[in-house]
Amino acid sequence: MKMQPNGRIVGRSAIVTGGARGIGAAICEQFCAEDGLVFIADNAKAAGEELAARLSSQGGSAQFLHLDVTDEDSWCAAIAKVSLENGRIDILVNNAGIALGTLPIVERDVQDWDRVMSVNARSVFLGVKHVVPVMIQGGGGAIVNMSSAAALGQWQNMEAAYAASKAAVHVFTKATGTQYAEQGVRCNTVHPGPIETEMMREVLGENPEVLAHRLVRVPMGRLGKPDEVAAAVLFLASDEASYITAAQLSVDGGAVAQ
Ligand code: NAD
Repeated sequence: MKMQPNGRIVGRSAIVTGGARGIGAAICEQFCAEDGLVFIADNAKAAGEELAARLSSQGGSAQFLHLDVTDEDSWCAAIAKVSLENGRIDILVNNAGIALGTLPIVERDVQDWDRVMSVNARSVFLGVKHVVPVMIQGGGGAIVNMSSAAALGQWQNMEAAYAASKAAVHVFTKATGTQYAEQGVRCNTVHPGPIETEMMREVLGENPEVLAHRLVRVPMGRLGKPDEVAAAVLFLASDEASYITAAQLSVDGGAVAQ
């Protein structure tokens, strides 16, 4: 799918966590195409720098920003750097996340639970906590948090710790959107179904039968593409969504409604 860029976020400063690959990289690419000033915030330095170089060579404004989303000091340093360079932060996409292979709850160890909660949920709290004051100072902003179809249904087949972390993101977004609406900060979630990325390949493995079984639960009968999720994020980050906050947008081929 190729979008026709038309400058929907011209000159806006955007931090995209987990921007080095997968869905995050597609978001960075679409933001650049729409003339945003993009910070690829990731702990994968080589991939992030490589993407920044590619997007810059295509005429975009992109730079790598080192960030471990689980670490508060890392957030403070990253935000200070963006504020120093751009004076403001207009858009935050909390996209970084990890998945776990499916295990029965009684076999899941507590370290895995803590790790997935830390990367997927604590990260979103830290980002919102430290970016919202900067946005308010600049007159407002837009936050898009990456949840998942796993937060909304089909739980019998979902990895429980992962689903719980994404449900935390979903509810936290409602609280953020309502608490800061008057100060001009919008906050919404995107809920992808199975999307063709490294994460999905790692979870599904190489077995075509596992993929086929997964697709039975997707009415459109196919995996989604990172660009299809990025388009939803771009919409929510842009002024086209100016009256939308504390809302949820599924990009799942109909999976949760099935
Ligand atoms: P991915 O594994 O391809 O990319 C994740 C990115 O996050 C990587 O660049 C990684 O380096 C970064 N990251 C991981 N831990 C980090 C940390 N501590 N600090 C900074 N960056 C970190 O994953 P993806 O498939 O592109 O998924 C992106 C988001 O979408 C995740 O939140 C995921 O849970 C969500 N999601 C994905 C799918 C899917 O099917 N792929 C479905 C629903 C939701």
